[in-house]
Amino acid sequence: MSLSINELVVEADRCVACGLCLPHCPTYRKTGSEADSPRGRIQLMRAVAQDILPNNNRFKQHIDLCLSCRSCESACPNSVNYGALVDSTRAIFIQQKIMWFALAKPFIRCRLLMSGLTWLIWLIQQCKFEGLLKRLNSAAKLLPAINKPVTWKSLYPTTAKSKQGDVSLFLGCASHALDSDTLKASIYVLNALGFDVHIPAQQTCCGSIARQMGDVAEANKLLALNQRSFDVSMPILTVASGCGSGLNDYLTHHHVQDVSAFLASCDWSKVNIKTLNQRIFVQDPCSLRNGQKSHASVYALLKKIPQAEIVPLSSNGQCCGGAGAYMLSQPSMANQLLNDKLIAIKNAEVDILATSNIGCSLHIAKGLKDQHLNVSICHPIQIIAKQMGFDNQ
Ligand code: SF4
Ligand code: SF4
Repeated sequence: MSLSINELVVEADRCVACGLCLPHCPTYRKTGSEADSPRGRIQLMRAVAQDILPNNNRFKQHIDLCLSCRSCESACPNSVNYGALVDSTRAIFIQQKIMWFALAKPFIRCRLLMSGLTWLIWLIQQCKFEGLLKRLNSAAKLLPAINKPVTWKSLYPTTAKSKQGDVSLFLGCASHALDSDTLKASIYVLNALGFDVHIPAQQTCCGSIARQMGDVAEANKLLALNQRSFDVSMPILTVASGCGSGLNDYLTHHHVQDVSAFLASCDWSKVNIKTLNQRIFVQDPCSLRNGQKSHASVYALLKKIPQAEIVPLSSNGQCCGGAGAYMLSQPSMANQLLNDKLIAIKNAEVDILATSNIGCSLHIAKGLKDQHLNVSICHPIQIIAKQMGFDNQ
């Protein structure tokens, strides 16, 4: 929700400064500074909105350090809408001037350009020049070995005997470019359960990164394009909870749902799922836990796999530090939080880690690789699709 300056002050006034959110805030836990806590940031936002404090670099630093993880929002007994406060503050007072974002904008806007770039990266990786690619910058270092790019059809009809309905699938820039296996697995499972899957060609980025950068004009442009592209009569299913959370907040005329949440409530009685005698740890992305509040559906979905033991990762209440573009813009804090996640993974001796957000997946996978930890990290839908016979070859 976008707030005007007056609405921002009214929402900030709803904070009674009880401090119950403080222990849930990752940045406050790391710095111990009130100004890096939700309560402190809300006071700062209100003071700047009322011209009591200047909108200077110190203010910007404290707002920039916020992950937008919204753990504070989940903990707040007064239901203060912290997400709307920080989004609106970024839109009104802080526009980031970041070179990589300016360069990335045309690719984010245009799926054709994004597809071209994906093909180029894939070809470079095939030719084994990826060492060169990874020396270029920190964003390139996050790149996994990508699958051969896919040209999506507009319709994937159900493979079940009786059709249950129609759904739209949101591709998302990062998932489309780097995680096409998850999208293919989602289509496979949805088709098997009786759903026709529609992929509107005009769909575009969800706008979350632009919003995080304070570029509200760009975010709204992308939103309007998605608004026109998707049929309002079908649910829009997302595989990346970062996209899902952003669309849920701002694409108000459509019903947006995480793919696991949708699937967990479907009829599975006619589907065969092979047993998997393994422990699967689940990492809860903040965007699924605090944004869409549907993290429980991932456990419900994976528990459909006979004999699989589904276990929450012990540090699930704390952000991994990925947080959209945060891993690029705030690498120091992002790495401190990543380190906590890696310790939890090592302590639990994790073999398989399921996560529903491509951002978390890339950030954690980079940490695992740097520490030479052999953990298979993938989207939960890939795990269940494989047990249903999905073969990506
Ligand atoms: S969104 Fe996350 S990092 Fe930001 S104030 Fe709330 S808990 Fe702290
Ligand atoms: S828990 Fe809610 S009311 Fe209490 S300090 Fe935090 S934001 Fe304010």
